[in-house]
Amino acid sequence: MPLAMLTNELSFSSKILAWFDQHGRHDLPWQQPRTPYRVWVSEIMLQQTQVRTVIPYFERFMARFPEIITLADAPLDAVLEHWSGLGYYARARHLHRAAQQLRDQYAGQMPADFAQVQALPGIGRSTAGAIMALAFEQRYAILDGNVKRVLTRHGGIVGWPGETAVANTLWALAEQYTPTVRIAEYTQAIMDLGAGVCSRSRPQCARCPIHADCQARATGQQQCLPTPRKARAQPLRHTVMLMIQGPQGVLLQQRPPVGLWGGLWAFPQVEQLDEVTPWCLAHLGTAPQTLQAWEPFTHVFSHFRWKITPVWLGLAHDPAKIMEAGGWLWYNYSDAIAVGVPAPVANLLAQLFQNN
Ligand code: SF4
Repeated sequence: MPLAMLTNELSFSSKILAWFDQHGRHDLPWQQPRTPYRVWVSEIMLQQTQVRTVIPYFERFMARFPEIITLADAPLDAVLEHWSGLGYYARARHLHRAAQQLRDQYAGQMPADFAQVQALPGIGRSTAGAIMALAFEQRYAILDGNVKRVLTRHGGIVGWPGETAVANTLWALAEQYTPTVRIAEYTQAIMDLGAGVCSRSRPQCARCPIHADCQARATGQQQCLPTPRKARAQPLRHTVMLMIQGPQGVLLQQRPPVGLWGGLWAFPQVEQLDEVTPWCLAHLGTAPQTLQAWEPFTHVFSHFRWKITPVWLGLAHDPAKIMEAGGWLWYNYSDAIAVGVPAPVANLLAQLFQNN
């Protein structure tokens, strides 16, 4: 390896480590203690979610599922309930399935082997690298959103990081810069740098330990990097959510185990308002006594927007018919049952019980 390149790599990691010693975060809940399980759960929660949002979820999750075995043995409903509001629920389902594999194949322990960790559900190359580096001090690189931002800006790398060629360049840099000592601290440090200094909208270059040789700063390209994905039109879909309220509570239905909001509990849905009464007759055996359409709102997913029209339906009596099938429950705030509920449904339930 040429001496100049070696010097660059050494100075990159040593500058970041020196900055971390003074300014990095050393008191995050998953750092104390930094076990493979806690690192894993935190890494999954931190995908697409900011640290300050994750902290209370992480603490509640660890209090309920302190060990891999506890998580594996818990019902999926309990896991989803502890994920309610974090979004991207496939993460929770994968976490649960992976915990069961760890229980069955590795006696409830995370193996200290990159390939075995990466083979678990929901664990990609970067998350496996983070577990190896943070929990086992093994020299593996990570490339999460924060690290991608730092590396694209510092190296002036143009092109959407989701493209294979760009991703390969970034992985090569990430591996090149990962030091051979203090691996866990360096991994935490570069994530912290991306989250706190080289932030998406307002990078604080004057405070950045690698500003002297940052290409984006030198050329004023901070706001253009990383290159965003080409904008795709986000389709707008419509749905009507039926908030059916009877004497026992509000009717919720469990969604199929995979797909949108898989395994979570939500209101029954129809596509259009004129399908409401036929749905009630078919499923409840009765037409609603009172019906009230609420103001529609739009919920944004990564791949489409959902225009939701909530409709409140009052029932004087509980219809016997609905309880004949599983997958339904009458939800009541006063004796709230521990199930996972997606954020828009939770908001509507809160409004509903506030109004009553
Ligand atoms: S100098 Fe600015 S743009 Fe470059 S890595 Fe540091 S914070 Fe990011």
